[in-house]
Amino acid sequence: KREGLQALMGLESVSLDGVRVELVANIGSPADAVAAKERGAEGVGLYRTEFLYMGRDTLPSEDEQYDAYVSVARTFGPIAPIVIRTMDIGGDKELPLLELPKEDNPFLGFRAIRISLDRPELFKTQLRAILRASAYGNLKIMFPMIATLAEWRAAKALVDVCKDELRAEGAVFNESIQCGIMIEIPAAALLADRFAKEVDFFSIGTNDLTQYTCAADRMNQKLAALNDPLQPAVLHLIERVIRAARAEGKWTGMCGEMAGQPHAVPLLLGLGLHEFSMSANAVLPARGLVRGMDQASMAALAAEALELETPDAIRALVEARVPAVR
Ligand code: PEP
Ligand code: MG
Repeated sequence: KREGLQALMGLESVSLDGVRVELVANIGSPADAVAAKERGAEGVGLYRTEFLYMGRDTLPSEDEQYDAYVSVARTFGPIAPIVIRTMDIGGDKELPLLELPKEDNPFLGFRAIRISLDRPELFKTQLRAILRASAYGNLKIMFPMIATLAEWRAAKALVDVCKDELRAEGAVFNESIQCGIMIEIPAAALLADRFAKEVDFFSIGTNDLTQYTCAADRMNQKLAALNDPLQPAVLHLIERVIRAARAEGKWTGMCGEMAGQPHAVPLLLGLGLHEFSMSANAVLPARGLVRGMDQASMAALAAEALELETPDAIRALVEARVPAVR
């Protein structure tokens, strides 16, 4: 089986009827980027930059962050997309350095973009580093945990402030760098049509989107059946988000665990997902699946799946039509 997978290195991620998708990796460090490239990833769909901040006594400087982002860009070269998510501290990822008050419900608390918007100097340091690094690769900026249009607009406005500063300093950066948001809060999924008019892209974070939609802590093993992205409610939100983006000519990615799950890949291809971001080991198996499927047939399959009432029924349907997922 391994040898079969190796044969997929360097091949296009294209369906039998010619629909091309991007199979990219989730990474947490520049070293992960090297490993991901070796495993066939076409770029990075989620760089979890919070790991730059964690487990240390001081905040990472602009130059230190810049070095990390340039390193990832160099690994993948000038064309491959590299989606850099601004820091997602909070929830299960603590940062004692920020001296944040202890919370009863950290997953519903002061985290991610909420911290970044509250601490613009901290946020701007990261945005400036990403912008400067964008001279070396196809970097994109992604904001985590967006719930409202106001948050997105405030974050985007700070990108523009940083661009003005860098321009005045004579720094080189990609003026037309794409800015997008994670869709991982139901509030954002429900207003996807409005967001789609303003953002450059969406990336669906199914780990959090599922936990918030089903109100089931993603760390709680007892709730695993509820924490299933094939819950019909979650699948309907995903369909809505991709459709909203397409209506505005924008692309949609997915960077939650679902993107690399064999049973999900046919459905997501059918729903029109453009970019699948997953742990590096899942890339070649996903490419094998995509190359064996017909996108038009998967669109019909997805439409049928949306009518079903349980994750088990959806899985059974996918297995019946695409035996390769088993
Ligand atoms: C997600 O929520 O699906 C996601 C990709 O972000 P994280 O797992 O880092 O919260
Ligand atoms: Mg998340």
